[in-house]
Amino acid sequence: MSDPKSNAAEPDIKTRIIHAGAEHGKRHSIVNTPVYHASTCLFDSFAAFREAVSNPDHGLFYGRRGTPTQWALEDALKDLEAGSGGVCLYPSGMSAISTALMAYLEPGDQLLMVDTVYEPVRSFCDKVLARNNIETKYYPPSVGEGISDYVSTNTKAVFLESPGSLTFEVQDIPAISKVAHDADAMTFADSTWGTPLSLPAHDLGIDINLHALTKYEVGHSDVMMGAASATPKYFNRLQSFTRTVGICVSPDDAYLCLRGLKTMAMRLETQFENGLQVANWLKAHPMVAHVYHPALPDDPGYALWQRDFTGGCGLFGFRLKHGSWQDLPHLVDDLRYFGMGFSWGGYESLILPVMPETCRSATRWPKGAPVLRLHIGLESPSDLIDDLEGGLSRYDAALKTSPD
Ligand SMILES: *Cc1c(COP(=O)(O)O)cnc(C)c1O
Repeated sequence: MSDPKSNAAEPDIKTRIIHAGAEHGKRHSIVNTPVYHASTCLFDSFAAFREAVSNPDHGLFYGRRGTPTQWALEDALKDLEAGSGGVCLYPSGMSAISTALMAYLEPGDQLLMVDTVYEPVRSFCDKVLARNNIETKYYPPSVGEGISDYVSTNTKAVFLESPGSLTFEVQDIPAISKVAHDADAMTFADSTWGTPLSLPAHDLGIDINLHALTKYEVGHSDVMMGAASATPKYFNRLQSFTRTVGICVSPDDAYLCLRGLKTMAMRLETQFENGLQVANWLKAHPMVAHVYHPALPDDPGYALWQRDFTGGCGLFGFRLKHGSWQDLPHLVDDLRYFGMGFSWGGYESLILPVMPETCRSATRWPKGAPVLRLHIGLESPSDLIDDLEGGLSRYDAALKTSPD
């Protein structure tokens, strides 16, 4: 694929995703890298054993360090992340984030954390990091180069998530990264929404880029997995820490994730486009107060999204004009296609009532009528719109007949 003698142009990312990681299968003339189960790997000789011990990440060593199945996924993800020095896999997106933070932060350090971060990360910072004398200071997602006002002498890292969880604010990644690097601080980003396909995070200044592969890479709502990609400067420490704490993923899960990855580009494109159709329909609906989607031209994040992202996905939010959580059963209980549940990135549509006001501390999220998060799957958007129209009419009818 990357034959140095060929003059062919660098292939498009959609081409790379199809062939990435394939060497491990090609060795046996098959398309997909098989599922290699292993704890023990046998050494042919004393010499081979000695060589493996002095270089344990170069070939089969012990199951915890992976087999060709996990390596195929790591290589594929590294290939998709421009500027990556290597990728480590984790048994969930959450464990990718917590392990990567622990790999670099030390007692006495300060972490600057975006206020719109995925809520379980906030819990990890406030509980686990705090008890290890690592301070977390939250900053508003709109901060831009104003992050300099938050930096102090012990600031070790700045963590971004763009767009933010639940409310989808886009951050100025290059501006924040520049201030961080000038202050000798590292940058971490949770790029689950953008995926490696739509957000070239390392190119924009991110040192450690994190993904919940559980979402679009797996793509079929059946495997938990996470990944961290580090720039060459930071990769050795990440890999060594990950090995030291004993993190590994099963070859079956890695196989399913690699399989999901092959169709991710077309799934993302369709789900993004269908999502925009539903988002625009909601925007025009008389019962909807606001749609939170960075790819809508009047969204406050639109200019940054257009500058830094090459696409999007099927996840966004909206706020109703009227009613309260008590009224939501009328909207969500009898939907035909939208399931209600956590996670997203699968082929199916989801709806989730959310409460951003309960997980913000540096910014204030106004209370009011309910906010819901939608994930648009691969169904026909007109069927999804009909489904939502039905739910909104039942909700409206219930509000009109309720006593207050
Ligand atoms: C789901 C999610 C995670 C966590 O991933 P898990 O695999 O569920 O642990 C992290 N960040 C974001 C933005 C997510 O949506």
